Amino acid sequence: MIYKRSSALFDEAKKYIPGGVNSPVRAFNAVGGDPIYIKKAEGAYLYDEDGNKLIDYIASWGPMILGHAFQPVVDAVIDKTKKGTSFGTPTEIETEIAKLAVEMVPNIDKIRFVNSGTEACMSAVRLARGYTNREKIIKFAGCYHGHSDSFLIQAGSGAVTFGSPNSPGVTKGTAQDTLLANYNDLESVEKLIDGNPKQIACIILEPIAGNMGCISPTKEFIEGLRELCDDNDILLIFDEVMTGFRLGKGGAQEYLGIKADIVTFGKVIGGGLPVGAFAASSQIMNYLAPEGPVYQAGTLSGNPLAMSAGLAMLKELNANPEIYKELAEKTEYLHKGFQKVIDDSGLTAQVNREGSMISVHFCENKVNDFESAAEGNNETFKKYFHGMLNRGVYLPPSAFESYFLNNKLSYEDLDVTIQAFADLAPELK
Ligand code: PMP
Repeated sequence: MIYKRSSALFDEAKKYIPGGVNSPVRAFNAVGGDPIYIKKAEGAYLYDEDGNKLIDYIASWGPMILGHAFQPVVDAVIDKTKKGTSFGTPTEIETEIAKLAVEMVPNIDKIRFVNSGTEACMSAVRLARGYTNREKIIKFAGCYHGHSDSFLIQAGSGAVTFGSPNSPGVTKGTAQDTLLANYNDLESVEKLIDGNPKQIACIILEPIAGNMGCISPTKEFIEGLRELCDDNDILLIFDEVMTGFRLGKGGAQEYLGIKADIVTFGKVIGGGLPVGAFAASSQIMNYLAPEGPVYQAGTLSGNPLAMSAGLAMLKELNANPEIYKELAEKTEYLHKGFQKVIDDSGLTAQVNREGSMISVHFCENKVNDFESAAEGNNETFKKYFHGMLNRGVYLPPSAFESYFLNNKLSYEDLDVTIQAFADLAPELK
């Protein structure tokens, strides 16, 4: 494939935008080469500036679960736009989407909308600190919760791809209040709780991790966390920015059968527009201003265009929950196809999958935490990424990211993808 125009656009962008991009992972630093500039997208496909058509497994990093340019979302946004793009006043549609979200997700009574997943997680932690009157938080190595200061401590995703898990600019004081545990290692959490009695406000995690590739929690780990939180008056925060409305209507809480005290959302809930949200019981949410003392605000929060896109998306998912079953079946089909290629070609690789999330690590050991995921961040991954791209398959440009399937992907698309991997496999050995 030819990427001449993309490369020229990237050169121009680098003159005016740091690194040429507005979010680091887009720059392809982890895999080398220039990023692809996308001109338009429809259904399961991206169309780039050089006229290439690519099968998309990123789905804008999660939101486009129903495929690109999903008509009800497009129509809703166009309709709203004609009536004015922002008022900074309450609007009826905010209540409509809040009501629907609360109906779809278990264990939440109220929800507050913000503009990104970062804002959602940052605000959820402030709320947890305000509610418990404690300052420390526990997060897990390799989990990414956005780029606010407290979370840039051994974060996954782009933060680790770029080799700066502890970013300059994060103060020592902030870093001290973020305690680090290992994913799927309950003992590492118990030690932190024992060492910091009555000081921990919350434990935040990705209930299915997607920022070190896709990693599932063991039953023992996730149940153990719930128990530890109950025993120690700690709030359990599920960061469902990736998993919310993707694993099922009720997200990871429903999927895993575990109750969280606060849940954060992003991606799917905005239908492709900039939206985040956090939610909990009334008791906890009423701590927020203007009802309670914990401050949180936003000029464009609950923006009518964003809410109309999110509402159209949630309505479709609520009305057609079989989408989740179909997506999981397609993801399983891809998994089986990939596994067969791996077995037939004698490649050393691990495929992890949960719902419509899947990832491939080229390493020997099972991938179940940050350390094991890091083994798959290697030269083989780079070759794999570029080999698939040259065959028209657009995968995340980092081993520390999950793929997100969308339901416009056909079985033919999946077969093309599996065949691309089979063709490429001999080069990866
Ligand atoms: N939490 C998780 C689990 C995420 O995957 C992300 C983004 N990939 C975020 C939070 C931050 O969301 P945003 O990029 O919208 O700020």
